[in-house]
Amino acid sequence: MTRIDVISPGSENVVGSIPRGGAADINRAVVAATRAFYKGWSRSSGKERATYLRKIAEKVKERKEELAHLETLDNGKPISEAQWDIDDVAGCFEYYADLAEKLDESQDSPVALPMEEFKTVLRRDPLGPVGLISAWNYPMLIATWKVAPALAAGCTVVLKPSEMASLTCLEMAAIAHDVQLPPGVLNVVTGYGTEAGAPLSAHPGVAKISFTGSTATGQRIAEAAAKNGVATCMELGGKSCLIVFDDADIEDAVEWACFGCFWTNGQICSATSRLLVHEDIADAFYARLKQRAENIKIADPLQPDTRLGPVISSAQLEKIMGFIEDTKGDGATLLTGGRRPGHLPCGYFVEPTVFTNVKPEMRLWREEVFGPVLASATFRTEEEAIAVANASQYGLAAAVISADAERCKRVAAAMETGIVWINCSQPCFCQAPWGGKKASGYGRELGTYGLDSYLSVKQVTTYVSKDRWDWYPPSKL
Ligand code: NAD
Repeated sequence: MTRIDVISPGSENVVGSIPRGGAADINRAVVAATRAFYKGWSRSSGKERATYLRKIAEKVKERKEELAHLETLDNGKPISEAQWDIDDVAGCFEYYADLAEKLDESQDSPVALPMEEFKTVLRRDPLGPVGLISAWNYPMLIATWKVAPALAAGCTVVLKPSEMASLTCLEMAAIAHDVQLPPGVLNVVTGYGTEAGAPLSAHPGVAKISFTGSTATGQRIAEAAAKNGVATCMELGGKSCLIVFDDADIEDAVEWACFGCFWTNGQICSATSRLLVHEDIADAFYARLKQRAENIKIADPLQPDTRLGPVISSAQLEKIMGFIEDTKGDGATLLTGGRRPGHLPCGYFVEPTVFTNVKPEMRLWREEVFGPVLASATFRTEEEAIAVANASQYGLAAAVISADAERCKRVAAAMETGIVWINCSQPCFCQAPWGGKKASGYGRELGTYGLDSYLSVKQVTTYVSKDRWDWYPPSKL
């Protein structure tokens, strides 16, 4: 099999290679997953499956430093963030182990009926072998958000990670092998989207495709799956807005704006990429934002105190620099950044960049950048801020910062998104559902919703009356 070079974004060096899987590999993986599903995994108890999930979590914890190192090497995120991701991976496997056990207890739950001759109970059965296609910004974590609930539900899996960062997903397969997960239950096929992802999304043998990636790719995948009547869950792009009111603590608000936009080098679907600041505090806010952004340590992501690493690839760097040049041309004000840092001659680094006076019609306000570039504008009234925040094709996340709890509640209710943060931005817990509206996709991952999305509800209805049903008389009247 031919291989794809792994280029480390911090050094631009080739640090390894991954298999370049294709349609035949995907087909073999789906066959293996189908066999494993019917051979026993789908009929195993939640308790049995939880044992494997806990063993996987244990191994992940044991190998935390090594996995975090690989993630940073492959993806470029600061090592401290990668370590956090690996903790979350272990936590997510443990969480779904708990839910797998609870699933056993909740089987055959009764449904109240209006007729006492019948009794109905509900079973929740695994969907079948599922196809999971994931993105590169949280390589192991996003894969875990799909793999852990799918396995907990009793589904078997074919995972196609992003070709941009597959190393830790291959390690996930190695860990599954180490803990003796039955063969065929978890299959990982690496490769390009068009060569491995497309045949998976068009495969008639999978019961569902769960996808995380760009809106354009998601549309293609949903179309291919729909031709086979295969269900899809779509976690797509975003253009999330943070609204800062005039009663906010400026220092706190600036901190969350920075965390929202620059964490994971700005490459988060839910990143704060639009910022609305109340005009009465704008001057003070922007002065502090400039200082904070310029104080962020941009360096080799493997250094423990690095706070901003490189973006994923040269193509991504070029795309981000294109956005910056266009926005300068559009007449917005460059508050800070906008260049590649001079002290780092190698690696795909971009300075934390903030534009103010960005107008709604500008490309930077409308399109997802997926890099450390923040678009900001001011507002006067709550109604105006809500209208501007919602005027986006995307609907993944939003955030509001204000000292007025009632106002925060009102704004949260008005946001047309799947996630709203109040007085913070970006924290994500595997216990709470994740997903968006509009062009940000549909379906939910994480929480109990994540497990439910890999289950099919079956009603089992029993006739319990001693009396004959007797609708059609046995002989002529
Ligand atoms: P992408 O769409 O380029 O690729 C995502 C995955 O799809 C990769 O595994 C890729 O190989 C595969 N793929 C590409 N073309 C395909 C095709 N024709 N058929 C099947 N599979 C194909 O996205 P990306 O660049 O990896 O990730 C960045 C995007 O992901 C951003 O838009 C970001 O907002 C989004 N994202 C969303 C969430 C969320 O939870 N909503 C989370 C992370 C990332």
